[in-house]
Amino acid sequence: MLKLPTLTANSPTIAEVDLAAFKENIRTFKQVAADSMLMAVIKTNAYGHGTVPIGLAAVEAGADRLGVTTVEEGALLRENGITVPVHILSSVLPEQAADIVTYDLTASVSSRKLANDINNEAKKQHKTVPVNLKIDTGLHRFGIEPKKAIQFCESCYHLTSLNWEGIYTHFPNSDEGDWELTEEQFALFLDTVSNLNDHGYNFPIRHVGASTIAIERKDMHLDMIRPGAALFGYEPASRQRDLISLRPVMTLKSRLLSVRELPPNTPVGYGGSYVTSSHEKIAIVPIGHGDGYKYALSNKGEMLVNGKRARIVGTISLDQTVINVTGIPDVRAGDEVIVMGSQGGDEISAKDIAEWMESNVDEVLSSLMERIRRVYV
Ligand SMILES: *Cc1c(COP(=O)(O)O)cnc(C)c1O
Repeated sequence: MLKLPTLTANSPTIAEVDLAAFKENIRTFKQVAADSMLMAVIKTNAYGHGTVPIGLAAVEAGADRLGVTTVEEGALLRENGITVPVHILSSVLPEQAADIVTYDLTASVSSRKLANDINNEAKKQHKTVPVNLKIDTGLHRFGIEPKKAIQFCESCYHLTSLNWEGIYTHFPNSDEGDWELTEEQFALFLDTVSNLNDHGYNFPIRHVGASTIAIERKDMHLDMIRPGAALFGYEPASRQRDLISLRPVMTLKSRLLSVRELPPNTPVGYGGSYVTSSHEKIAIVPIGHGDGYKYALSNKGEMLVNGKRARIVGTISLDQTVINVTGIPDVRAGDEVIVMGSQGGDEISAKDIAEWMESNVDEVLSSLMERIRRVYV
């Protein structure tokens, strides 16, 4: 049995999660799509915010359903008292059928083998299990090709322990604002659904809309929207800034471990990729790429100390980052440093960090490791 130490003080680096802001974002989306159901997509440890507390908050704020990508996340929600439908938005292995049925999860089905295995398992457990048919309209990850949908339903729709409750697709280029392609794919999806309906294959819940569609395309909301990243405060595209008002949910903060002065021409950190040009004051922040604060931020990112921006200097190590606090008055070891969030009227957002590391908000947030303590406020 693993023994956990008893410590007198908590580690300095924490991710503060503002549950009130999260709930407000949920309510904002409920207003945006008042005529559709809301599935809160909280995959990947709720984009780094913590699956269980965020799942509970989402349901409290009125989310009708939750979406995750792994069976493990779905089971975790169930073990912690979540009773609303939980969708698995990824494909799964047929071997996972038993867990899906045991935990009453709603699988995305696009293979006969999986349909049959879930059906057999459901029979065994004396249950009828809801499933969603995934149609591939162009993302080309998984899903049934539209022209094979009828054939698929001929072989699986009749399985008696399955309830084909929903049908959905996911768009590859809506965040980029490629409406021509997205509209084409939307039309293909609707065509496929109506063709299936004509053959007697009905799916009460049709859904296609992640954050971008939820924000920009009311005409594509259908029966349910599926926002994810936006629930955590970040609209996927800057063109959406004036269309919706969202509050960032996470503040990432730490405290300076030490502050020291270095003379000119002093290399800092592994490889000496930064060399001081004058007398400079540097400080150590206990966060590194081992925490998911990525190496790509080396010599690029910034943090806030005493309300002022301090640049990252040198390469980021596993557990530590060096920042340049030259010119920031009264900086002392122990001072709070904001890695992501607001301080003194300035703000460093997950979007800024994403730009510095040439990535996206999803990666910035979901990379943050479990060892960064989440504090829910
Ligand atoms: C991740 C995901 C979403 C949410 O996407 P956002 O762009 O973060 O809103 C919705 N649907 C599916 C199928 C997903 O995989």
